[in-house]
Amino acid sequence: MKKVILVKNGEIVLKGLNRSTFEDILIKNIRRRLAPAGTFTFHKSQSTITVIPDDDNIDFDLAIECMKHVFGIVGFSVAAVCEKDIEAIKQTALEFLGDDLRAVRTFKVNGKRSDKRFAMTSPEICREVGAHILSNIQPLKVDVHAPELTVTVEVRDQVLVHGNQWKGAGGLPVGSSGKACLLLSGGIDSPVAGWMMAKRGMILEAVHFASPPYTSRRAEEKVKDLAAIVARYSGRIHLMVVPFTKIQETIKDNCPEDMFTLIMRRLMMKIALRLAEERECKALITGESLGQVASQTVDALACTDAVATKLVLRPLIGMDKDEIIEIARKIDSFETSLLPYEDCCTVFTPKHPKTRPVLSMIEEAEAAVDFDTLIDDAVRRTAHYNIDA
Ligand code: ATP
Ligand code: MG
Repeated sequence: MKKVILVKNGEIVLKGLNRSTFEDILIKNIRRRLAPAGTFTFHKSQSTITVIPDDDNIDFDLAIECMKHVFGIVGFSVAAVCEKDIEAIKQTALEFLGDDLRAVRTFKVNGKRSDKRFAMTSPEICREVGAHILSNIQPLKVDVHAPELTVTVEVRDQVLVHGNQWKGAGGLPVGSSGKACLLLSGGIDSPVAGWMMAKRGMILEAVHFASPPYTSRRAEEKVKDLAAIVARYSGRIHLMVVPFTKIQETIKDNCPEDMFTLIMRRLMMKIALRLAEERECKALITGESLGQVASQTVDALACTDAVATKLVLRPLIGMDKDEIIEIARKIDSFETSLLPYEDCCTVFTPKHPKTRPVLSMIEEAEAAVDFDTLIDDAVRRTAHYNIDA
């Protein structure tokens, strides 16, 4: 049986003149993502993209799994293709959807005749196909209002028969909103923040600060694993690991203890901004959430933001931890985030961090130390990796 995948693209439809560009990005992303399942040709029409296999060697189960991770898709379905002949349609519906129909109690048939030359009207198609299903599969009832399964018959230049849609990942196609640099720790929040911005169409790069020997090799491996999990949705992530030990030791030896965390965060930002500039990223992304810890009060965030020369996106800013965890579970990053390895943020943490810092005092403390040379050195010694799902 010949099959195709029908893709409903979401907000792309609203993009007017840019629509074609958005669709092309989406098609490129789908093509890349479906590569393990086979090769395909793409056909655009209105709000649907039809994905047509180039040959019979397609792993459709794998294709369905891959499709669920592509942003820019509201829903999709696998459809069987048959001739424009009512007997062929009836037979295809039973053959293709028989197992699904036997697993439910109620169904309806939805007819869509776009080719008006086809002899039967949509209601006639529904009646014929519905009666054929009822006489072959028992016990099954028609429910036109809330059926468990909807059999859709679309008469175009060919006939497409399909069952319920799979839910897509939503959002905008990755690459339609430019590129940003995610500050990725080993925690729960930052992978979720990256996923959220990829969902809005951003290509992700990531920067991680490591402080060996205070942070271990396994902590770094964990961050690579997290990047790979996010990459299932965002596509390949360019990950940069910054050696941060010297900077943290210098802060500890030269700055007031209650300012450690904020000075460290400002230096993280400065380094991330340098790398973002080198890599042509338009913005930074962090996993900060208002009030979660002392460095995430409004005053503390303003102090961190004062060094920002690019837009800093904080998609989790208004979310509770349990809402963040819900997404982490959904995208499968939660278990990995829970692995108990150290993060540089937990090295030299002050007992009483400032929750209402004064910017001028922080700046004064920083000015007493030559951090610029240390920043140059850290940027130069940064390690670069390409992380794939
Ligand atoms: P997460 O769960 O992502 O670790 P968190 O709740 O632990 O976040 P913080 O440790 O205060 O919060 O970090 C806030 C944000 O700063 C993180 O979400 C991340 O964007 C960034 N960040 C923290 N540590 C690092 C690190 N070692 N490398 C890169 N970015 C980091
Ligand atoms: Mg953290």
